[in-house]
Parts: sequence; C-alpha cells; structure tokens
Amino acid sequence: PVVLGIESSCDETGAGLVRDGRLLGHAVASSMDEHARFGGVVPEIAARAHVHALRPVVRRALGEAGLRMADIGAVAVTTGPGLSGALQVGLAGAKGLAYALGVPLYGVHHLAGHVAADTLAHGPLPNPCVVLIVSGGHTSLLLVRDLARDRIVHLGDTLDDAAGECFDKVARVFGLPYPGGPAIDRAARVGDPRAVPFPRPLTGPRDDPYGFSFSGLKTAAARWAERHQGRALPVADGAAALQEAVADVLTRKAVAACTAHGVGTLVVVGGVAANSRVRALAEERCAAAGIALRVPPLKLCTDNGAMIAAIGDLLVRAGAEPAPLDVSIDPSAPLEYAALHPVARA
Ligand code: ATP
Ligand code: MG
Ligand code: FE
Repeated sequence: PVVLGIESSCDETGAGLVRDGRLLGHAVASSMDEHARFGGVVPEIAARAHVHALRPVVRRALGEAGLRMADIGAVAVTTGPGLSGALQVGLAGAKGLAYALGVPLYGVHHLAGHVAADTLAHGPLPNPCVVLIVSGGHTSLLLVRDLARDRIVHLGDTLDDAAGECFDKVARVFGLPYPGGPAIDRAARVGDPRAVPFPRPLTGPRDDPYGFSFSGLKTAAARWAERHQGRALPVADGAAALQEAVADVLTRKAVAACTAHGVGTLVVVGGVAANSRVRALAEERCAAAGIALRVPPLKLCTDNGAMIAAIGDLLVRAGAEPAPLDVSIDPSAPLEYAALHPVARA
C-alpha cells in the first residue's frame, strides 16, 4: 500500500508518501523563523503552526506524488518522542485521516524514522548495522539487528547535551544566527580546526567507549569566547575547532562500535548528519577501517514526513500490528521500539 507519514514532533510539519521502500513525494513546512527571536523552539508556537501547516503539507505531498487521498493505504504518525502539544496535532490529524479512509494507523518512533530515512536513498538496511543518531535532542549509538521488528540494541547515549544542542548553544555564544548547527558549519568553512585545542570528552581508556558528553565542550567554547573580551572573536576558528572536536568524537566512537561488533556498515542519521565535517570524517574513517558508510541526503537528515512514511512502510511490510484509534502520544518514548503502541511492544 501507499503509506502516508506525518511528522510533527518539533518545529517541522512533514508529510511523505512511500510505497515498497520508494519515496513518491513529500513536503515540509517549518515554523523555525517564528522561534528565531526566542533562540529556541517555543512549544505553543510550534503546536499552533502544525495546526495551520498539516493539511497543506499533506496536499503538497500528494500533489508531488501525483496521488489522491483515496490512494492512501495506511497512515504512520510520530507519536514520540517530542513536544506534547506538537505531537498531539499530528496524531489527531493522522487519526482523522485513517478513520475517514478506513485504513490502518501506525504510531511510530521519531528516531526510528530518522534511521528509516536512509532506506529511501540507499535501499534496505543490512542486518546488522551500527547506527549513529545525532540530532537536536539525541546522540545515540545503536546496534540494529532488525529495525521494523524492534531488534535494536542500545550501545550508548549522551550523558548530558546532544551534539546538535551543543552546536546550537555554542552558536548563540559566538553570536551566530539560529539554528546554530548550520551556522557553525558555514562559519567553519574559513576557519582553522587546529586553532583551539578543545577537549575530546569521554575518549579516555577508562571511559565508556560508546558514551558521549557535550556539555563540557559547550563550557570550553564559552570560556574561550570570554577570553576575547573586548577583542574581536575569531568565530570561524572557534566554529571549525568545535566542529572538529564533535566530529572527531562521534566518528571515532561509531567506527569503534562497528569494529568491536564485527559490523560492516555504519549509518549516520539525524540533523547533525547534515554537518559537512561529520560527513567527511565519517567517510575517511570508515574507508580506513573497511566499513561501508551510509548517510541520507541532506534533505532527509533533518525532520521530515518521508522518514515517518519510510518506517511506516517497513512496519507494514514486516506485518506489524496497527495501532488502535485511541493510541496516545508518548513524549519521552524509549528508543528500543520502532512502533510505539502497546500491541507492538507486547
Ligand atoms: P530529535 O530528532 O532528537 O527529536 P530534532 O528533531 O530537533 O531532535 P533534527 O531535526 O533531527 O533534530 O536536527 C536538528 C539539529 O541538527 C539541530 O540541533 C541543528 O542545529 C542540527 N543541524 C542541522 N544541520 C546541521 C549542520 N549542517 N551542522 C551541524 N548541525 C546541524
Ligand atoms: Mg527542527
Ligand atoms: Fe528529529
């Protein structure tokens, strides 16, 4: 069937249409600009923006695919993790559509969606593979044996900030625009990555090999900026050095996870997978270690509806139980499940 995916966990409203692993069309609307002057996502503004954007975004995705409402055979929607109000809007819309069309509804995990996004560009995931999820809210290493059948082993997480959060917060300190990740990436282009010796947290011999910590890096960047009181801050150098530290730690640990588990494929997903240095260093290190690297195209790295349709399509094809129409959101859903309703968890 054609699976419609709906994403509304944060500030992007997304709709995507996928059939048998193929992306047929998708559309995204973002309320990013409305949050910019607050320096971060305002939950109430995000929720309201989803109300306005949901129907147009679904219509645009259908238009791009050359399909009509009646062609939709299943609806998948992000039920968590994310902002409660924002999730509620997408779920209400998805329930209404599934009920009206008489098609099954699937409540899915946002991060499983980020992982599934890669299948739209590069085909089915090899089982097993190691997945590095790096986004605004998460930094996790997973050993994925079968994504749609919930065979996911959690190897490690960040103890504090996520990598994207670190970029966003340091960008503010450096006086760069919101959102910070892309701004750091742009500024770093003309900077010297060796200009500042930023630390490489949790890379010591006695540290958790798959644990991450980015709040110390954020503090180190703030201290470095403070030391320039009264003088112009060499932002390009700071950005390049910070990006180098983050990319170094992320790719080092991800490749180590592959090697330790005898896994031949690394998949890097989430908003920070859009970072140019993370992509380049992952390529370099995977090539050196004989590991195949998969990173989704830029447009599928940040939040979108295609990735939700992609995990929905995988669940449908794996024979997963649909969600009941009274399924609720799960704002802090654990990462171990791709489908987020009690039936699939049992
Ligand atoms: P989560 O998926 O954990 O719920 P999220 O959905 O907010 O969080 P994504 O949309 O996946 O996160 O990614 C957004 C994050 O990616 C932001 O922190 C943003 O700064 C970061 N990001 C986007 N592009 C880049 C880039 N080129 N370099 C570094 N970071 C980037
Ligand atoms: Mg976003
Ligand atoms: Fe996300």
